[in-house]
Amino acid sequence: MPRRPKTSTPEKIHMELMALLRDFERQIKEQDLRTKVLALVPAFHSLRDLGSSLIPQQDACAARERILLYLLRYPLVVIHGDELMVISGIQDWPRRIRELRREYGWAIASGVTLQEMADENDAQIDHIDMHTLRPEEYILLNSMQDRDAALRWRIANDIRKSKVGIRQKIIEYLRQNVGRPVTGEELRYVANDKTEWARRVRELRTELGWPIATRNTGRPDLGVGMYVLEQDRQSPAHDRSIPDSARRAVLMRDNYSCTLCGWTHDQWNPSDPRHLELHHIKHHSKGGKNTQENLRTLCTVCHDNIHRKK
Ligand SMILES: [Zn+2]
Ligand SMILES: [Zn+2]
Repeated sequence: MPRRPKTSTPEKIHMELMALLRDFERQIKEQDLRTKVLALVPAFHSLRDLGSSLIPQQDACAARERILLYLLRYPLVVIHGDELMVISGIQDWPRRIRELRREYGWAIASGVTLQEMADENDAQIDHIDMHTLRPEEYILLNSMQDRDAALRWRIANDIRKSKVGIRQKIIEYLRQNVGRPVTGEELRYVANDKTEWARRVRELRTELGWPIATRNTGRPDLGVGMYVLEQDRQSPAHDRSIPDSARRAVLMRDNYSCTLCGWTHDQWNPSDPRHLELHHIKHHSKGGKNTQENLRTLCTVCHDNIHRKK
């Protein structure tokens, strides 16, 4: 259906829309259904123009820019997809969201992904309980653009296509991004959008000993929805299978610092890459429990030393 040229201001479009709706009043009594539908089409177009005119043309002329401006105005606020439909004025706005993530590096999380994360991680965004989010809702997690994102999404795309299991895909992707935070959206994508992705990430951490940190499991400095593989190594076999709840409690108790040398993540630098691990005081193999009393926080250097001495 041909579109009329856009009128400029919301006031003008509103007047035009009202006129169209008034005209439609005579059509309601029409017998022919198609006549009525065709008479209503211009009003639909006009309503859509009204939505997209709410952000002035000079600020954002493309639908994608309007969506971004809207999200940037309300960071960390739950935004319903219908709002993005209104402000973008286009039907295919979900594609624009994907572009903003993958080509422009904006951390826009969807309700689906955050819910799946919350199931594994009981995470919370400020006052928002992530379990209550609906799939068609969105949140801009960070008002900073991540300029490396486009490259990462290309890597993600290659791994996604490889013929290995979900867990293998996730760890492969993380190992290509050691020390660099990636979003839950990326991990979900690598995992072929399978709901199990969040559980697999937890298994990689708690069963296989990969140091994949989140804000709730060792790195409170990370943003919500971010994951980072801190170092490309698995913790010693006997220090695996520590549940996240114990990990969280011990790290908090020890102030996120090594209980031997005092190292914290603030001191991290590329020539001395370390991270914090949990060590069983009485070894797991000798019946040591995963209790807070039997666990202490060590940096990887001190942890290696302790085991070397024994
Ligand atoms: Zn240390
Ligand atoms: Zn140990």
